[in-house]
Amino acid sequence: MNHYDVIVIGAGIHGAGVAQAAAAAGQKVLLLEQHGPAYGTSSRSSKLIHGGLRYLESGQFHLVRESLHERALMLKNAPELVRLKAFHIPLYRNTRRKPWQIMFGLGTYAALGGFKRGCRFGIISKREWSQLDGLSTNNLRTVFRYFDGQTDDALLTRAVLQSAVRLGAEVHIPAKFQQAELHAEGVRINYQQHERNVDAQANVLVNATGPWVNQILRAVTPTLPARLIELVQGTHLVLPGAITQGIYYVESPRDGRAVFVMPWYGETLIGTTETRYRGDPAQVKPLQTEVNYLLQIMKNYFPQRSVSINDIQHSFAGVRVLPAGSGHAFHRPRETVFDTDRQYQPRLISIFGGKLTGWRATAEQLMQRIESSLPKRQPRADTRNIRLFPE
Ligand SMILES: Cc1cc2nc3c(=O)[nH]c(=O)nc-3n(C[C@H](O)[C@H](O)[C@H](O)COP(=O)(O)OP(=O)(O)OC[C@H]3O[C@@H](n4cnc5c(N)ncnc54)[C@H](O)[C@@H]3O)c2cc1C
Repeated sequence: MNHYDVIVIGAGIHGAGVAQAAAAAGQKVLLLEQHGPAYGTSSRSSKLIHGGLRYLESGQFHLVRESLHERALMLKNAPELVRLKAFHIPLYRNTRRKPWQIMFGLGTYAALGGFKRGCRFGIISKREWSQLDGLSTNNLRTVFRYFDGQTDDALLTRAVLQSAVRLGAEVHIPAKFQQAELHAEGVRINYQQHERNVDAQANVLVNATGPWVNQILRAVTPTLPARLIELVQGTHLVLPGAITQGIYYVESPRDGRAVFVMPWYGETLIGTTETRYRGDPAQVKPLQTEVNYLLQIMKNYFPQRSVSINDIQHSFAGVRVLPAGSGHAFHRPRETVFDTDRQYQPRLISIFGGKLTGWRATAEQLMQRIESSLPKRQPRADTRNIRLFPE
């Protein structure tokens, strides 16, 4: 039976990131993915590499600073995969957020980003409004502009996974984790690959399965308590016609939520929604109510564009994992949660929540948590300097 230092389940951005960080630290790594890289949430996000301006409203300064730092690293290490785009925030007479709030938020955002590349912001002159992709100017008061990153989330995940492979990680796709048994020294697992059952051992098992996190925990003996989580689905629509001037960060007139309208391979991507989800994560689909909600926002802000249900080119939904709690999902913290079977020398660690943007920092934090369970090895690379290439 093969023995590894670390076995990772899941090739979403978190699993790929952990495989990269563990291989860079010189560990012997195996990653298992049931379908394909980025099969889950990591190909269905809003595709933004950003600090998350709106997280300032809920006081998540640490998350914003860390994400802006990661954005800067990706602009350096993955310039073909992550690009800075102009973001526009139009404020109308009835917009809930006030100009001074946005100005204050953008100033704080730039400060948390260390006033580095991509931290410029300002107000667009009225003369330029007509160039903004047909944005409604009815009752428009101000348009702010700042900069943030956009990526192709599935391509980014594959690039991180490839970098892990180049550093020596063994990746099996498709390979479905079946069960695990914790013992004093580590963990013994069983997975299915090409209709064959395979056993393997590791010092640490990393459960990076996002919305499947509790399904994996249920297959571990001795039984561990399932995490109290909530699954929240988010839908995006791809509409015909290009957006050329960057990304629009608009407020839903119905509930005040922030929604993005973005360029996407010559078309327009709009999202996202937040709807409680209770089913199998693999079966998530856009709901009619979500489609109507997004089309209404599009009509409201871009009235010249024809947007009916028949125009939708493509739509997709992804599932976010949030710690269970009260209140609307939109206001819930977006920090990554790590959960270990024991504090010292953990044998099993689960990651959930978090952001696409923070994958590298998350992976490094995870490596620190499992350090006491791993042998000392000669590092092969520093994740802050690993170049990523689109495959
Ligand atoms: C609608 C939406 C929009 C978002 N937008 C952004 C954004 O713009 N910017 C940002 O930074 N973040 C964003 N996020 C957050 C970000 O997308 C997620 O935090 C991230 O993709 C989660 O990745 P993950 O690796 O944890 O999970 P996933 O990508 O879901 O990966 C889990 C993997 O585990 C695999 N798996 C499950 N069970 C097994 C098994 N038994 N054996 C083997 N493999 C298994 C699955 O097939 C899957 O590939 C968004 C999230 C949502 C839902």
